[in-house]
Amino acid sequence: MKILLIDDSRTMRNIQKKVLSAMDNVEISEAADGLEALAAVGEQGPFDLMLVDWNMPNMDGFTFVTKIRENDKTTPMIMVTTEAEKSRVLEALKAGVNNYAVKPFTPDALLEKIRQTLEKAGAGG
Ligand SMILES: [Mg+2]
Repeated sequence: MKILLIDDSRTMRNIQKKVLSAMDNVEISEAADGLEALAAVGEQGPFDLMLVDWNMPNMDGFTFVTKIRENDKTTPMIMVTTEAEKSRVLEALKAGVNNYAVKPFTPDALLEKIRQTLEKAGAGG
């Protein structure tokens, strides 16, 4: 399974990588903002799952999701938000994210979100 981690915080990406290491056959790519992520999708995609941080420089996660959904309606995406952005989650769901995770999360909580999201998307778990 190919997973793209999109977050401007290397620390957060490392936390996510560690969580994902509990899953089998995972191949991880990383991007530090929405622009890098669009490039990664073009060069290395399609991915089976993308974790998308909301707040990032150059292109934020919301804009990235909107752009992806213009021609890809199916790739599962989980929006990663802070408590402050929680009120905008509905907006993100409307824009096409499949699920969301609020920081800070425990490793188990994130893993559970990922499994739920993949199951719903029909990609197994
Ligand atoms: Mg951020």
